[in-house]
Amino acid sequence: MEQKQYWLPHDVWASLELAGVEYLLSHDGNMPVSCIKDKFICLLFSAKWCKPCNCFMGKLLDLYKTVNSTSPACNLEILFVSLDHNESSFLDHFKEMPWLAVPFDQKIIRKLRFTFHVEQIPSLIPLVLVDGNVLVEEDAVRLVESYGVDAFPFGMKRRKELEATDETKRQGGKLEELIGCKDRNYLISNDDSKLPIPDLVGKTIGLYFGAHWCPPSRAFTKLLIETYNELENSEIGSFKIVFISMDRDENEFMASLKEMPWLAIPYSDKSRHDLSRIFNIKWIPSLIILGANGEMISRDGRTMIARYGSLAFPFTEKRSKEVERMLEEDGERLARLVSDPRHEHLLKLDMARNYVCDVCQCTGRFWVFSCSQCDFDLHPSCHRER
Ligand SMILES: [Zn+2]
Ligand SMILES: [Zn+2]
Repeated sequence: MEQKQYWLPHDVWASLELAGVEYLLSHDGNMPVSCIKDKFICLLFSAKWCKPCNCFMGKLLDLYKTVNSTSPACNLEILFVSLDHNESSFLDHFKEMPWLAVPFDQKIIRKLRFTFHVEQIPSLIPLVLVDGNVLVEEDAVRLVESYGVDAFPFGMKRRKELEATDETKRQGGKLEELIGCKDRNYLISNDDSKLPIPDLVGKTIGLYFGAHWCPPSRAFTKLLIETYNELENSEIGSFKIVFISMDRDENEFMASLKEMPWLAIPYSDKSRHDLSRIFNIKWIPSLIILGANGEMISRDGRTMIARYGSLAFPFTEKRSKEVERMLEEDGERLARLVSDPRHEHLLKLDMARNYVCDVCQCTGRFWVFSCSQCDFDLHPSCHRER
């Protein structure tokens, strides 16, 4: 549950004093509570034994350093409230933090947890002073995890701004802003060439989220290569694919890329993470389809490719329905059961994604006459009446 914003009828300093905080700890000794005056204060509830807290710490350290070095006027200060089991683990935990801590006193910590409704950790609570009162903003942990440094200065307003920006991108903003970034306006491929992103404007694009460690991804890559090559060698239309790696490290990424005839975002690039947030990627493999104006037209390119291959191009819902209808009509023209002089059993009309015809030895897709007693498949077009 995300915490919502609410007001306290006094300032930050008073809120701490009411909880019994008489001084703060820094790495240079004790500090008066007044030292946080005129600073942007966040309370961090965390514990060393808590795994999510440890994962969060790296992101928060990065944000704290970046904000205070790039915009010192923001004066971001964090007060650590420890939920560690004892004083020595508190000190051990605090050692990693460049900010301040409230004393390790169970009574004070209980009061702060109660005042700020802290039910889970990690919890990062921004306290904003407005006209002498404290606006306690919603917990910023999720925001920092999703947006990194951009999450600052936190709060509901900032969250809505960031969500609106993501929404604009889904609806088709500038392609360079979506799949590029400030220092990179190109995509890479496995032959070390770079393709400028503006070259992709106006084309149908598949954003492929996958990873080498994931067997379904590797299987889908094979399928996608077939479709991609078919479209590349046809006049149907241009389909560009951009790989967004969910690999665990650069080596795995290179192994993924080696097999792919299309483009990729460099592994070190932060926009990989942004894209998976913008398109709300919950599992891999996923194939997001962008239309000619850069707008998202389907989040389920994977199913369309798996079912219809290159026939599904340009992967709109309309096209999907057309293909379905077309296949149905084809099926209606075919007999349910046939016999063929080249096979001793009766053959049944069936639907298959991929098969090899036992008469002409070529691959087939969709409708097939197949034997239910042995492994025999036949193109409907190769069938001859006995
Ligand atoms: Zn055949
Ligand atoms: Zn048979």
